[in-house]
Amino acid sequence: MLDDGEQRKLTLNQVLLREVNEQIRSLSTSFGETGTISVVCECARDGCMVLLPVSVEDYEAVRHIPTRFFLAEGHEIAGVETVVEETPDYIVVEKTGASAPVAIRMDPRSHHTEVPWGIDE
Ligand SMILES: [Zn+2]
Repeated sequence: MLDDGEQRKLTLNQVLLREVNEQIRSLSTSFGETGTISVVCECARDGCMVLLPVSVEDYEAVRHIPTRFFLAEGHEIAGVETVVEETPDYIVVEKTGASAPVAIRMDPRSHHTEVPWGIDE
């Protein structure tokens, strides 16, 4: 079992990958792409560069929930995240425990200045 500090550290890596995907998403929009985009696997593994085909619609649906991330199958880490959706191309995980507030606070879609329920580091 990872301690809270380790969970937060892993999640920070994933938050950065989410930022990369937000760039991919916004670029695809500017080119008028409405079908499928290739996003990077948002897992905590070092140097994972797996690309996942995700429809824009599904991407948007997951991105509306700040604790959810796109991963390649089998890249989840038990105790840090829980698989909530499985497709042939990717899985969606939800952050749990100490990593959840990190994912929420760093949400690129949110303009909140503080985390709800007052979690602080
Ligand atoms: Zn991965």
